[in-house]
Amino acid sequence: MTVTTRFAPSPTGNLHVGNVRTALHNWMWARRHGGRFLLRIDDTDLERSKEEYVEGIRADLAWLGLDIDGEERQSARFDLYEAEFQKLKAAGRVYACYETPDELDIRRKVLLSRGLPPVYERKPDGAPVPEGVAPHWRFRLDHDAAIEWTDLVRGPQHFEPKTMSDPVVRRADGSWLYLLPSVIDDIAMGITHVVRGEDHVSNTAAQIQMFEALGAAPPAFAHEALLVGTEGKLSKRLGSLGMDNLREQGIEPIALVALLARLGTSDPVEPVTHAAPLVESIDFARFGRAPARFNEAELALLNQKILHHLDYETVANRLPAGIDAVRWHAIRPNLMTLAEAAEWVPVFDGPFTPPVPDAGDRPVLAAAAAAATELDWSADPWHALGAAVKEATGAKGRALFLPLRRALTGRDHGPDMAELLPLIAKDAAVARLSAQ
Ligand code: GLU
Repeated sequence: MTVTTRFAPSPTGNLHVGNVRTALHNWMWARRHGGRFLLRIDDTDLERSKEEYVEGIRADLAWLGLDIDGEERQSARFDLYEAEFQKLKAAGRVYACYETPDELDIRRKVLLSRGLPPVYERKPDGAPVPEGVAPHWRFRLDHDAAIEWTDLVRGPQHFEPKTMSDPVVRRADGSWLYLLPSVIDDIAMGITHVVRGEDHVSNTAAQIQMFEALGAAPPAFAHEALLVGTEGKLSKRLGSLGMDNLREQGIEPIALVALLARLGTSDPVEPVTHAAPLVESIDFARFGRAPARFNEAELALLNQKILHHLDYETVANRLPAGIDAVRWHAIRPNLMTLAEAAEWVPVFDGPFTPPVPDAGDRPVLAAAAAAATELDWSADPWHALGAAVKEATGAKGRALFLPLRRALTGRDHGPDMAELLPLIAKDAAVARLSAQ
């Protein structure tokens, strides 16, 4: 059986880091097993679903490198849901209900006030049916068999169906709630593993009986602990932290992948430059039960570390024209974001005006300008320059190197000058050192 997973977002908003994490784990699991990863657009809610969000979801997955093996849309599958619904109805596994929301609410409160669990009470067979009222529909749970599964993250799970309300699966206007179409699709699409947040655990209990009622074996389930912010809650910030926002901050997709792949697991977060080692090592048994804490500062730091190792080929199409492979290698250890690479183009190619030097640094710079003219730029000009200036002026250490770095790059810090200097044309370097 081909391992098949799906990511099933409702296109009612943009993806945030929480949904992206679920998508990532589904993708990793499929890739690890040479399987298939499907995108299922859960757009049964035609009012709230928007095409722009569908496009945004596709674009975000592509940006993250989560390639899909197929896309399905629930709104194109209503005929199938209807057919399966009719089968369940004929078998007595879905039944019509006529209560209004107010009636249900009052009944719930009465049960709670008596210290009873607020479980939906089925009407006895033959109970009177109100006239002219369109029913909504519930799935009849089988009360006789305990619901059990071994969750890949949470271990053995046990639910008593008697303690659960028969779930509503269809509204009076004929529209679908999430539970049943999802099961019908999981069967039709051959889903072998459902990977989703632990907020779905009780849905799973009901859905397992739906799989059985539709004559299918349930897939394996992995319910991951939720993602929370640093303050330990499902913060507003986290819920709204979209990919656009991260992209604007200069976060590399592989950095987000590296963090979300491992957060909340017992495997360490590592500054990988490709997803392959993460894919190879995914194991739901090492996912923790405690909420995974997402920290933006940790992401920024990881992003920097990863950036410092990214191959030229990986970033070439996003670099300015002036940054070739050699220049990339020289500057990458000092970048916080890829966008900063642009700031180095004038250092290499001009236009560049060196800062006005401190008076005390002038002798060093004068000696450097004179020495640079004589140097073989194809050898190791930085060390030769240092040696020549030291001999001419007696300066050493910081007093020697800092004025040179400042005059040549305009900054106090930056890439290794031995790597950088040969990449600046000799006449440009001489001009900068002479510009006092
Ligand atoms: N559309 C559902 C959600 O976003 C899918 C849940 C599932 O993976 O089955 O919660």
